[in-house]
Amino acid sequence: MPHFTSTRGDAPAPVSFEDALLHGLAPDGGLFVPETIPSLAPAGDEAESFPERSARVLTPWLAGEIAPETLRAITDDAFDFPVSLVPLADGGDGGLDGVHVLELFHGPTLSFKDFGARVMARCMSHFMQGRDEHLTILVATSGDTGSAVADGFAGQPGVEVVLLFPEGQVSPVQERQLVAQRPGVRALAVDGPFDDCQRLVKEAFQDEELSSALLLSSANSINVGRLLPQMLYYVWAAERFDDEMLFCVPSGNLGNLTAGVLAARSGLPVRRFLAAHNANDFFPRFLGGGPDEFAASERTLSNAMDVGAPSNFERLQWLLSEEELRETIWGVSVSDGATLQSMRRVYDATGYVADPHTAVGLDAVRRYRSETGDGTPTVVLSTAHPAKFPAVVEDALGFEPDAPERLAALWNEDTQSEPLAPTLRALREKLLHGA
Ligand SMILES: *Cc1c(COP(=O)(O)O)cnc(C)c1O
Repeated sequence: MPHFTSTRGDAPAPVSFEDALLHGLAPDGGLFVPETIPSLAPAGDEAESFPERSARVLTPWLAGEIAPETLRAITDDAFDFPVSLVPLADGGDGGLDGVHVLELFHGPTLSFKDFGARVMARCMSHFMQGRDEHLTILVATSGDTGSAVADGFAGQPGVEVVLLFPEGQVSPVQERQLVAQRPGVRALAVDGPFDDCQRLVKEAFQDEELSSALLLSSANSINVGRLLPQMLYYVWAAERFDDEMLFCVPSGNLGNLTAGVLAARSGLPVRRFLAAHNANDFFPRFLGGGPDEFAASERTLSNAMDVGAPSNFERLQWLLSEEELRETIWGVSVSDGATLQSMRRVYDATGYVADPHTAVGLDAVRRYRSETGDGTPTVVLSTAHPAKFPAVVEDALGFEPDAPERLAALWNEDTQSEPLAPTLRALREKLLHGA
């Protein structure tokens, strides 16, 4: 069983998955990474279901900490929705031959974050059983994380979820999902951009006053509890191809891409990853030989990727050398204009309605193919349902996407949220005194 150590290399001793999961961040402020990477469990037969395959993939990572049958119960319960791999057939002239969309948005909050959040919630509640402590989960969210985590944890005894989101910078649907009233969930509307939310969470973890009063944990993509389950759909999709393929990952904080790299490091035959970013282009610039200097985040149509300082960059650098990073990952930045055009181009050629995040990925594939001439079959991770972004879809295509029923029902639910100034002091007050 792998133990988890810190990216910064001066953490005391490697810790168990349970400790890494419950603490979120290593004591030295680094991110937890596996000391060793177990080999991928061999594929089962074609009839093996996604939850079944997933439990077998996770087993060597968690052996000795969570029994295989408990893991199977966790994946069965967490993944009670479909994963679809949709080939985009365009008759050959739209440049989309061999491009497949991996729809990861059929979970309860309609984004891929349901995969990580639901498994993480169930693992945490497994480890909290029989303790009489209370866990406070702090989550900075640029939109989709918060709702997935709130949904995954709602009503779990002994756990409170506190969401920090950038006021006015998430879509109306995302905001509605964040502020929907759920047992054990508080939403804090931060007066500042997502980077402030993320910084506050990091500061809270390093604050002695808070950590002595509360058992704090994170549920951002910095938590290994989210990272490991995000490997599972890479494995499942790649095993549907006979030969090596490419994955294109619409990226922000680089958690999803890091999970793909972990899966590849454990033996999944992936030829290359395409990192598709919006105007927040730190990572593609770095891959192109630029400096590793973060920038302030910029608002775009694919707002769940509006991250100026991707926290998982530190993990990627730990997993791969600079040379390996540039060899394994090709990156590109897609503007808002190109995102809208991509939505139109794909719809016109195939009838497929992509959300703006997926559209960034689809345009990245087009750019990659025209720059490299490499037409290898490619799976684009579709990270959100188009109905989460009705205004953008309408702008691009002239109609609103069909909304699944659970989204429509949101508008009738009760809501709650509290304003928060972007300072550690204000957050401390909220957490300790509720004010
Ligand atoms: C979170 C999110 C992303 C970015 O994922 P990272 O792991 O932060 O790179 C992309 N698309 C959607 C819809 C998201 O919610």
